[in-house]
Amino acid sequence: MDIAIIIVAAGRGLRAGGDIPKQWRELDGKTVARRTLEALNPYGSLILVVHPDDEATAACETVGLQVLTVSGGSDRRQSVKNGLEAAASQGATHVLIHDVARCCITPDVIQPVIDALASAQAAAPALPVTDALWTGIDNRVSGTKDRNGLYRAQTPQGFHLQTLLSAHRTCDYAAADDVEVATAAGISVTITQGSENNIKITTPEDFARAINILRGQMDVRLGNGYDVHAFEEGDHVILCGIEIPHDRALKGHSDADVGMHAVTDALYGALAEGDIGRHFPPSDPQWKGAASEIFLKHAVDIARQRGYTIGNIDLTLICERPKIGPHATEMTQRMAEIMALEPNRISIKATTSERLGFTGREEGIAAIATATLVRS
Ligand code: MG
Repeated sequence: MDIAIIIVAAGRGLRAGGDIPKQWRELDGKTVARRTLEALNPYGSLILVVHPDDEATAACETVGLQVLTVSGGSDRRQSVKNGLEAAASQGATHVLIHDVARCCITPDVIQPVIDALASAQAAAPALPVTDALWTGIDNRVSGTKDRNGLYRAQTPQGFHLQTLLSAHRTCDYAAADDVEVATAAGISVTITQGSENNIKITTPEDFARAINILRGQMDVRLGNGYDVHAFEEGDHVILCGIEIPHDRALKGHSDADVGMHAVTDALYGALAEGDIGRHFPPSDPQWKGAASEIFLKHAVDIARQRGYTIGNIDLTLICERPKIGPHATEMTQRMAEIMALEPNRISIKATTSERLGFTGREEGIAAIATATLVRS
Protein backbone atom coordinates (compact mmCIF):
# COMPACT_ATOMS: atom_id res chain seq x y z
CA MET A 1 0.00 0.00 0.00
CA ASP A 2 1.62 3.25 -1.16
CA ILE A 3 -0.22 5.98 0.72
CA ALA A 4 -0.39 9.66 -0.17
CA ILE A 5 -1.80 11.95 2.50
CA ILE A 6 -3.57 15.04 1.24
CA ILE A 7 -3.90 17.79 3.81
CA VAL A 8 -6.43 20.34 2.72
CA ALA A 9 -5.24 23.76 3.88
CA ALA A 10 -6.43 26.10 1.11
CA GLY A 11 -9.34 27.60 3.05
CA ARG A 12 -9.23 31.12 4.50
CA GLY A 13 -10.57 29.86 7.85
CA LEU A 14 -11.31 33.29 9.33
CA ARG A 15 -14.32 32.10 11.39
CA ALA A 16 -11.77 31.02 13.99
CA GLY A 17 -10.91 34.69 14.62
CA GLY A 18 -7.61 36.49 14.04
CA ASP A 19 -6.50 38.04 10.79
CA ILE A 20 -4.63 35.07 9.33
CA PRO A 21 -6.15 31.75 8.25
CA LYS A 22 -6.50 29.40 11.23
CA GLN A 23 -4.11 26.78 9.82
CA TRP A 24 -1.21 29.25 10.06
CA ARG A 25 -2.04 30.39 13.59
CA GLU A 26 0.14 29.25 16.43
CA LEU A 27 -1.16 26.72 18.91
CA ASP A 28 1.08 26.21 21.93
CA GLY A 29 4.35 26.84 20.08
CA LYS A 30 3.62 25.37 16.64
CA THR A 31 1.17 26.28 13.91
CA VAL A 32 -1.96 24.22 13.41
CA ALA A 33 -0.68 23.12 9.98
CA ARG A 34 2.72 22.05 11.33
CA ARG A 35 1.07 19.95 14.04
CA THR A 36 -1.17 18.23 11.49
CA LEU A 37 1.75 17.54 9.13
CA GLU A 38 3.86 16.07 11.93
CA ALA A 39 1.02 13.86 13.16
CA LEU A 40 0.45 12.33 9.71
CA ASN A 41 4.06 12.22 8.52
CA PRO A 42 4.72 8.62 9.65
CA TYR A 43 1.85 7.21 7.55
CA GLY A 44 2.71 8.19 3.96
CA SER A 45 3.94 10.91 1.65
CA LEU A 46 2.49 14.30 2.48
CA ILE A 47 0.75 16.56 -0.02
CA LEU A 48 -0.26 19.96 1.34
CA VAL A 49 -2.88 21.85 -0.65
CA VAL A 50 -2.64 25.60 0.00
CA HIS A 51 -4.07 28.86 -1.28
CA PRO A 52 -1.71 30.39 -3.89
CA ASP A 53 -1.19 33.40 -1.54
CA ASP A 54 0.07 31.07 1.22
CA GLU A 55 2.91 29.36 -0.64
CA ALA A 56 5.67 31.26 1.20
CA THR A 57 4.07 30.46 4.58
CA ALA A 58 3.74 26.81 3.56
CA ALA A 59 7.44 26.69 2.64
CA CYS A 60 8.35 27.83 6.20
CA GLU A 61 5.93 25.42 7.84
CA THR A 62 7.22 22.37 5.97
CA VAL A 63 10.95 22.80 6.72
CA GLY A 64 12.52 19.48 7.65
CA LEU A 65 9.58 17.43 6.39
CA GLN A 66 9.15 15.85 2.95
CA VAL A 67 6.05 17.65 1.70
CA LEU A 68 4.78 18.31 -1.81
CA THR A 69 2.91 21.63 -1.84
CA VAL A 70 0.08 21.95 -4.35
CA SER A 71 -2.10 24.96 -5.19
CA GLY A 72 -5.72 24.78 -4.11
CA GLY A 73 -8.77 25.41 -6.29
CA SER A 74 -11.89 27.56 -6.00
CA ASP A 75 -13.53 25.30 -3.39
CA ARG A 76 -12.66 22.39 -1.14
CA ARG A 77 -13.56 19.73 -3.69
CA GLN A 78 -11.40 21.35 -6.38
CA SER A 79 -8.51 21.60 -3.89
CA VAL A 80 -8.80 17.90 -3.05
CA LYS A 81 -8.92 17.08 -6.75
CA ASN A 82 -5.65 18.98 -7.32
CA GLY A 83 -4.12 16.97 -4.48
CA LEU A 84 -5.42 13.70 -5.95
CA GLU A 85 -3.93 14.48 -9.36
CA ALA A 86 -0.57 15.14 -7.68
CA ALA A 87 -0.84 11.87 -5.69
CA ALA A 88 -1.62 9.96 -8.90
CA SER A 89 1.45 11.38 -10.64
CA GLN A 90 3.54 10.23 -7.63
CA GLY A 91 2.28 6.66 -8.16
CA ALA A 92 0.37 6.33 -4.86
CA THR A 93 -2.17 3.48 -4.65
CA HIS A 94 -4.15 4.77 -1.68
CA VAL A 95 -4.94 8.16 -0.29
CA LEU A 96 -5.90 9.66 3.06
CA ILE A 97 -7.58 13.06 2.96
CA HIS A 98 -7.40 15.11 6.13
CA ASP A 99 -8.61 18.53 7.27
CA VAL A 100 -5.66 20.70 8.28
CA ALA A 101 -7.73 22.02 11.21
CA ARG A 102 -7.88 18.57 12.84
CA CYS A 103 -4.42 18.90 14.39
CA CYS A 104 -5.18 16.81 17.50
CA ILE A 105 -5.37 13.67 15.35
CA THR A 106 -3.75 10.59 16.93
CA PRO A 107 -2.62 7.13 15.74
CA ASP A 108 -5.66 5.44 17.31
CA VAL A 109 -7.85 7.20 14.72
CA ILE A 110 -5.44 7.07 11.73
CA GLN A 111 -4.36 3.40 11.90
CA PRO A 112 -7.88 1.82 11.81
CA VAL A 113 -8.61 3.77 8.59
CA ILE A 114 -5.45 2.37 6.96
CA ASP A 115 -6.14 -1.14 8.28
CA ALA A 116 -9.70 -1.05 6.92
CA LEU A 117 -8.44 -0.14 3.43
CA ALA A 118 -6.85 -3.58 3.13
CA SER A 119 -10.32 -5.03 2.55
CA ALA A 120 -12.70 -2.04 2.19
CA GLN A 121 -13.21 0.27 -0.80
CA ALA A 122 -13.02 3.26 1.51
CA ALA A 123 -12.97 4.00 5.25
CA ALA A 124 -13.47 7.05 7.43
CA PRO A 125 -13.73 7.76 11.16
CA ALA A 126 -16.96 8.96 12.73
CA LEU A 127 -18.77 9.08 16.05
CA PRO A 128 -22.41 8.14 16.57
CA VAL A 129 -24.64 11.09 17.46
CA THR A 130 -25.57 10.73 21.14
CA ASP A 131 -27.33 14.04 21.81
CA ALA A 132 -31.03 14.34 21.04
CA LEU A 133 -31.65 16.20 17.78
CA TRP A 134 -34.11 19.04 17.33
CA THR A 135 -35.09 21.33 14.57
CA GLY A 136 -35.67 24.93 15.58
CA ILE A 137 -36.90 28.25 14.29
CA ASP A 138 -36.18 31.58 16.04
CA ASN A 139 -34.83 29.86 19.18
CA ARG A 140 -37.94 27.67 19.49
CA VAL A 141 -38.02 23.92 19.01
CA SER A 142 -40.09 23.13 15.95
CA GLY A 143 -39.62 19.37 15.94
CA THR A 144 -37.36 16.44 16.81
CA LYS A 145 -35.25 14.11 14.68
CA ASP A 146 -34.38 10.46 15.19
CA ARG A 147 -30.63 10.26 15.90
CA ASN A 148 -30.53 6.53 15.19
CA GLY A 149 -28.02 5.74 12.48
CA LEU A 150 -26.61 9.27 12.43
CA TYR A 151 -22.86 9.87 12.65
CA ARG A 152 -20.59 12.89 13.01
CA ALA A 153 -18.00 12.61 10.22
CA GLN A 154 -14.27 13.12 10.83
CA THR A 155 -11.05 12.78 8.86
CA PRO A 156 -8.67 11.27 7.70
CA GLN A 157 -10.89 9.65 5.08
CA GLY A 158 -9.17 6.81 3.20
CA PHE A 159 -9.71 5.61 -0.36
CA HIS A 160 -8.19 3.67 -3.21
CA LEU A 161 -6.67 6.55 -5.15
CA GLN A 162 -7.86 5.79 -8.68
CA THR A 163 -11.43 5.05 -7.54
CA LEU A 164 -11.73 8.35 -5.71
CA LEU A 165 -10.02 10.29 -8.49
CA SER A 166 -12.58 8.93 -10.99
CA ALA A 167 -15.40 9.94 -8.62
CA HIS A 168 -13.95 13.46 -8.32
CA ARG A 169 -13.54 13.82 -12.07
CA THR A 170 -17.27 13.24 -12.56
CA CYS A 171 -18.50 15.18 -9.49
CA ASP A 172 -19.87 18.61 -10.42
CA TYR A 173 -21.14 20.02 -7.10
CA ALA A 174 -19.51 21.34 -3.91
CA ALA A 175 -19.57 18.22 -1.72
CA ALA A 176 -19.01 18.66 2.05
CA ASP A 177 -16.32 15.97 2.12
CA ASP A 178 -14.85 13.11 0.13
CA VAL A 179 -17.13 10.49 1.61
CA GLU A 180 -19.99 12.41 -0.02
CA VAL A 181 -18.18 12.36 -3.38
CA ALA A 182 -17.42 8.65 -2.96
CA THR A 183 -20.88 7.49 -1.91
CA ALA A 184 -22.44 9.49 -4.77
CA ALA A 185 -20.25 7.43 -7.10
CA GLY A 186 -21.42 4.16 -5.50
CA ILE A 187 -18.26 3.56 -3.42
CA SER A 188 -18.96 1.76 -0.14
CA VAL A 189 -17.40 3.48 2.89
CA THR A 190 -16.60 1.61 6.11
CA ILE A 191 -17.01 3.61 9.31
CA THR A 192 -14.08 3.38 11.72
CA GLN A 193 -13.83 4.62 15.31
CA GLY A 194 -13.48 8.39 15.56
CA SER A 195 -12.43 10.32 18.66
CA GLU A 196 -13.91 13.17 20.65
CA ASN A 197 -10.39 14.65 20.69
CA ASN A 198 -10.20 14.77 16.89
CA ILE A 199 -11.79 18.20 16.82
CA LYS A 200 -11.85 20.48 13.80
CA ILE A 201 -10.74 23.92 14.91
CA THR A 202 -13.51 26.24 13.77
CA THR A 203 -14.25 28.87 16.42
CA PRO A 204 -11.89 30.94 18.66
CA GLU A 205 -12.89 28.70 21.63
CA ASP A 206 -11.63 25.66 19.72
CA PHE A 207 -8.04 26.92 20.05
CA ALA A 208 -8.28 26.66 23.83
CA ARG A 209 -9.89 23.21 23.58
CA ALA A 210 -7.15 22.04 21.22
CA ILE A 211 -4.42 23.25 23.60
CA ASN A 212 -5.99 21.26 26.44
CA ILE A 213 -6.22 18.14 24.28
CA LEU A 214 -2.64 18.50 23.03
CA ARG A 215 -1.26 19.04 26.53
CA GLY A 216 -3.00 15.83 27.57
CA GLN A 217 -1.27 14.06 24.67
CA MET A 218 2.21 15.32 25.50
CA ASP A 219 4.74 12.57 24.87
CA VAL A 220 7.97 12.50 26.87
CA ARG A 221 10.53 9.83 26.02
CA LEU A 222 13.73 8.77 27.71
CA GLY A 223 16.55 6.76 26.16
CA ASN A 224 19.90 5.48 27.36
CA GLY A 225 23.05 4.57 25.47
CA TYR A 226 26.20 2.77 26.53
CA ASP A 227 29.37 2.24 24.52
CA VAL A 228 32.93 1.04 24.97
CA HIS A 229 35.96 1.31 22.71
CA ALA A 230 39.36 -0.26 23.41
CA PHE A 231 42.65 1.58 23.08
CA GLU A 232 45.16 0.75 20.38
CA GLU A 233 48.36 2.36 19.27
CA GLY A 234 48.05 5.97 18.25
CA ASP A 235 48.54 9.59 19.26
CA HIS A 236 45.02 11.00 19.72
CA VAL A 237 41.41 10.12 20.50
CA ILE A 238 38.20 11.67 19.15
CA LEU A 239 35.62 12.38 21.83
CA CYS A 240 32.37 14.25 21.13
CA GLY A 241 33.78 15.41 17.82
CA ILE A 242 36.97 16.89 19.35
CA GLU A 243 40.47 15.59 18.66
CA ILE A 244 42.39 15.19 21.92
CA PRO A 245 46.12 14.40 21.93
CA HIS A 246 46.81 11.17 23.85
CA ASP A 247 49.41 8.42 23.87
CA ARG A 248 46.83 5.90 22.60
CA ALA A 249 43.98 5.93 20.06
CA LEU A 250 40.52 4.34 20.24
CA LYS A 251 39.93 1.32 18.09
CA GLY A 252 36.73 1.02 16.05
CA HIS A 253 35.15 0.64 12.66
CA SER A 254 34.24 4.34 12.46
CA ASP A 255 36.21 7.14 14.15
CA ALA A 256 35.49 5.34 17.47
CA ASP A 257 33.96 8.41 19.11
CA VAL A 258 32.66 6.53 22.12
CA GLY A 259 30.89 9.59 23.62
CA MET A 260 29.03 10.48 20.46
CA HIS A 261 28.04 6.84 19.99
CA ALA A 262 26.50 6.66 23.47
CA VAL A 263 24.50 9.85 22.84
CA THR A 264 23.36 8.57 19.42
CA ASP A 265 22.21 5.28 20.95
CA ALA A 266 20.34 7.18 23.69
CA LEU A 267 18.40 9.05 20.98
CA TYR A 268 17.69 5.87 19.01
CA GLY A 269 16.64 4.28 22.29
CA ALA A 270 14.17 7.05 23.08
CA LEU A 271 12.70 6.61 19.59
CA ALA A 272 12.59 2.79 19.91
CA GLU A 273 14.81 2.71 16.80
CA GLY A 274 17.39 0.15 17.90
CA ASP A 275 21.00 1.33 17.88
CA ILE A 276 23.75 2.64 15.57
CA GLY A 277 24.53 -0.88 14.36
CA ARG A 278 21.00 -1.24 13.00
CA HIS A 279 21.17 1.95 10.92
CA PHE A 280 24.88 1.84 10.01
CA PRO A 281 25.94 -1.85 10.02
CA PRO A 282 29.66 -2.33 10.85
CA SER A 283 29.69 -4.97 8.10
CA ASP A 284 29.13 -2.19 5.55
CA PRO A 285 32.54 -0.91 4.36
CA GLN A 286 31.16 2.56 3.57
CA TRP A 287 31.12 3.41 7.33
CA LYS A 288 34.78 2.46 7.82
CA GLY A 289 36.51 5.44 9.40
CA ALA A 290 33.26 7.45 9.15
CA ALA A 291 32.86 10.63 11.20
CA SER A 292 30.39 9.73 13.93
CA GLU A 293 28.46 12.97 13.45
CA ILE A 294 26.77 11.22 10.48
CA PHE A 295 25.20 8.79 12.97
CA LEU A 296 24.26 11.48 15.47
CA LYS A 297 22.69 13.71 12.83
CA HIS A 298 20.66 10.76 11.56
CA ALA A 299 19.20 10.07 15.01
CA VAL A 300 18.46 13.79 15.53
CA ASP A 301 16.75 13.97 12.11
CA ILE A 302 14.46 11.03 12.92
CA ALA A 303 13.50 12.66 16.21
CA ARG A 304 12.68 15.99 14.54
CA GLN A 305 10.80 14.33 11.67
CA ARG A 306 8.57 12.66 14.26
CA GLY A 307 7.86 15.99 15.89
CA TYR A 308 10.11 15.57 18.94
CA THR A 309 12.35 18.23 20.36
CA ILE A 310 15.39 17.17 22.33
CA GLY A 311 14.87 18.07 25.97
CA ASN A 312 18.40 17.39 27.15
CA ILE A 313 21.42 15.13 26.81
CA ASP A 314 23.54 13.92 29.71
CA LEU A 315 26.79 12.11 28.90
CA THR A 316 29.36 10.62 31.25
CA LEU A 317 32.74 9.51 29.90
CA ILE A 318 34.49 6.91 32.04
CA CYS A 319 38.28 6.85 31.82
CA GLU A 320 41.47 7.57 33.81
CA ARG A 321 43.05 9.44 30.90
CA PRO A 322 42.93 11.62 28.88
CA LYS A 323 41.55 14.27 31.23
CA ILE A 324 38.14 15.37 29.92
CA GLY A 325 37.57 18.52 32.00
CA PRO A 326 39.81 20.84 29.94
CA HIS A 327 37.94 19.83 26.76
CA ALA A 328 34.37 19.63 28.06
CA THR A 329 33.33 23.14 26.93
CA GLU A 330 34.63 22.61 23.41
CA MET A 331 32.95 19.18 23.27
CA THR A 332 29.64 20.69 24.37
CA GLN A 333 29.91 23.41 21.70
CA ARG A 334 30.65 20.83 19.00
CA MET A 335 27.79 18.54 20.05
CA ALA A 336 25.42 21.53 20.19
CA GLU A 337 26.43 22.50 16.65
CA ILE A 338 25.89 18.99 15.27
CA MET A 339 22.54 18.58 17.01
CA ALA A 340 21.38 22.18 16.36
CA LEU A 341 20.65 22.47 20.09
CA GLU A 342 21.37 25.10 22.74
CA PRO A 343 24.58 24.16 24.62
CA ASN A 344 22.78 24.47 27.97
CA ARG A 345 20.78 21.34 27.06
CA ILE A 346 23.93 19.24 26.74
CA SER A 347 25.88 18.01 29.77
CA ILE A 348 29.26 16.37 29.25
CA LYS A 349 31.08 15.14 32.32
CA ALA A 350 33.61 12.50 33.21
CA THR A 351 34.57 10.15 35.97
CA THR A 352 37.35 7.67 36.59
CA SER A 353 36.57 4.19 37.90
CA GLU A 354 39.12 4.53 40.71
CA ARG A 355 41.62 2.41 38.76
CA LEU A 356 39.20 -0.55 38.87
CA GLY A 357 38.20 -2.67 35.89
CA PHE A 358 39.07 -2.19 32.22
CA THR A 359 38.75 1.59 32.28
CA GLY A 360 40.82 1.66 35.48
CA ARG A 361 43.55 -0.37 33.76
CA GLU A 362 43.37 2.11 30.84
CA GLU A 363 42.39 -0.58 28.35
CA GLY A 364 39.65 1.59 26.87
CA ILE A 365 37.01 4.26 27.43
CA ALA A 366 33.34 3.70 28.32
CA ALA A 367 30.50 6.18 27.91
CA ILE A 368 26.96 6.29 29.21
CA ALA A 369 24.32 8.75 27.97
CA THR A 370 20.72 9.71 28.61
CA ALA A 371 18.46 11.64 26.23
CA THR A 372 14.96 13.03 26.67
CA LEU A 373 12.64 13.77 23.79
CA VAL A 374 9.46 15.81 24.12
CA ARG A 375 6.56 16.09 21.73
CA SER A 376 3.87 18.52 22.70
MG1 MG B 1 30.81 2.57 19.33
